[in-house]
Amino acid sequence: MIVARAEGPHYRVEALDPAAHLFHVTLTIAQPQAGQRVSLPAWIPGSYLVREFARHLQKLTARQDGKPVPVQQVDKATWQVDCVPSSPLVLGYEVYAFDNSVRAAWLDTQRGFFNGTSLCLRVHGMAQERHEMELVAPRAYPHWEAATGLEPLKTGKRGFGTYSAENYDELVDCPVELGPFFSAEFRACGVPHRIVVAGATGAFDADRLVADTQKICEAEIRFWHERRKPPFKSYLFMLNAVDDGYGGLEHRNSTALICSRRDLPRMGETRTAEGYVTLLGLVSHEYFHTWNVKRLRPAEFAHYDYTGENYTQLLWFFEGFTSYYDDLFLRRAAIIDDATYLKLLTKTVNQVQQTPGREVQSVAQASFDAWVKYYRQDENTANATVSYYTKGSLVALCFDLTLRQEGHTTLDEVMRALWLRCKAGPMAEADFAAVLKELGGRDYKRELAAWVHGTRELPLRELLEQHGITVMEEPAQMQQRLGVRVGESQGLVVLKNVLRGGAAEQAGFAANDEWLAVEVAGTAWRLAKLDDLLLYAGNHRKVTAIVARDRRLLRLDLTIPSGITTWRLVLRDPAQAQAWFGPQD
Ligand SMILES: [Zn+2]
Repeated sequence: MIVARAEGPHYRVEALDPAAHLFHVTLTIAQPQAGQRVSLPAWIPGSYLVREFARHLQKLTARQDGKPVPVQQVDKATWQVDCVPSSPLVLGYEVYAFDNSVRAAWLDTQRGFFNGTSLCLRVHGMAQERHEMELVAPRAYPHWEAATGLEPLKTGKRGFGTYSAENYDELVDCPVELGPFFSAEFRACGVPHRIVVAGATGAFDADRLVADTQKICEAEIRFWHERRKPPFKSYLFMLNAVDDGYGGLEHRNSTALICSRRDLPRMGETRTAEGYVTLLGLVSHEYFHTWNVKRLRPAEFAHYDYTGENYTQLLWFFEGFTSYYDDLFLRRAAIIDDATYLKLLTKTVNQVQQTPGREVQSVAQASFDAWVKYYRQDENTANATVSYYTKGSLVALCFDLTLRQEGHTTLDEVMRALWLRCKAGPMAEADFAAVLKELGGRDYKRELAAWVHGTRELPLRELLEQHGITVMEEPAQMQQRLGVRVGESQGLVVLKNVLRGGAAEQAGFAANDEWLAVEVAGTAWRLAKLDDLLLYAGNHRKVTAIVARDRRLLRLDLTIPSGITTWRLVLRDPAQAQAWFGPQD
């Protein structure tokens, strides 16, 4: 006997009213359950914050056999429909889409974008069925196109039509870009790739972005598979260029990226601008996630729970190690030179060293707490938490350099062995420990305890010196000397953070203080830029700061410390460093 697979949910998505930022969704459930429940996810995998997408859903109605059916809201994101199982259930609703990030949904007269977690109600009991998504071409915008990683079933030239997903997870793992966008195709190791760019200006050098992206993709496919094929049939980059923005979200066969227009490569320019390196680092990062977090992933993410927080202690591995490899691949693919690579590494080292929270929290704890700390930053974040991205990438560096120093293996080989050991699926820290032991020839419990679960300083200096790098110490900028982070605009210095144990904290500064003036030896000066402090202070180390807090003027005695330094990494022995970060092949 052949049991036909039940017909799964079908979503018809229309850009109903771009001026009002409203999508309309018609969800047809061919064979509903009695009292069918549906719900919208509270979060989107890859971005660890409960975002309550249901708050943008409105006007939910249900019909069966052409007649309205009552709908009860059960909780903040769940509805129960008073339907019978015998005939198709049709739900209709609107979603307000005005979040210009990669994590939710956007619709205006210029462009549309959405993740299924914002638009697609999950049909309880049917998450494993095949899902269909029908993208309706908006009549008012005949030049709009659609792009998505979903598998096309019946689509037209412009990409509108019906797509299919293996299950609900796959449906919501394939964001959709709508609008007039630049589009190019290329192959990496024989696999079709596409890149679409929205919001670019006439200066955009598309050929250069495509060529560099291809180099990155090929380097990463070869890293994981040598000459074999990657675990996806095709791949899509969706890049949205805006005035000021940065970010990306990884998916199994696509990624949504946002960058500043100024960071796109420009026609006629041959140098590799700093902003463009940042953009390529993002491309490299999200592409590496295709393996590291979307397939090889925390055991806790074997099955996502869309209703609330999904905790894991492993983001230092999945985000941190991905951050280590993102810039490394730019160097290995010869897109940047040694000096640029070391500059990027220097920046990461200094970022971690200027975070007092590294003495408070381990990267494993930071991973677990991402939901309430990393994704909810405030003035105290730097004092209480450490970034599992930046410190995690330095943990990767320490493992890589330690393994190379001992001569049995490298982190590259460890990553590939983990991929095989975990069958490109759920992974626990014990798997990492086991592979380290197997390939490294000894136990790495001590390192895991100290670097991942501890808060002591990483042995960066020794390891870097052993690998052809000299660590130079240079006088720090005024912000680091005083232990503050400030914002400066229109001649006003405002404190954003006061760092634990610093001179500013000792003087009594607080976040949000407006630093108005400084008094030195009886003369008061209006302070418009923090770097002017030494202009007024001269050789005096003891000054009086005049700040406004809640409109009250306060006088704070400040001692400007000397002897505070930051690192600069310099290549001493290129041959020695070559094996580690030099171009491959
Ligand atoms: Zn990431």
